[in-house]
Amino acid sequence: MHCRRVRSAIFLFADGQLAGELRVAFRHHVDTCPHCLRELEAAERLLALLRRRCRREHAPEHLRTRVVTLLASAPRRPMEEEDV
Ligand SMILES: [Zn+2]
Repeated sequence: MHCRRVRSAIFLFADGQLAGELRVAFRHHVDTCPHCLRELEAAERLLALLRRRCRREHAPEHLRTRVVTLLASAPRRPMEEEDV
């Protein structure tokens, strides 16, 4: 795995969304590349800050109702291969 690939997935890794061999390859790269390690640490700090700041925030009820209404009335698109 190269730096460019690691950087493109750094927030996914920091958020625990990489799994299996991809996660292992990512971890190995970060353990051996100080530049990407710094980027990962910055991403983890940013995510931690966002979680702390957003924990108690809720969307206003009128916005929630509008989103739910729009989603319910949105036309459904046919399932594509990527959805499977
Ligand atoms: Zn790197």
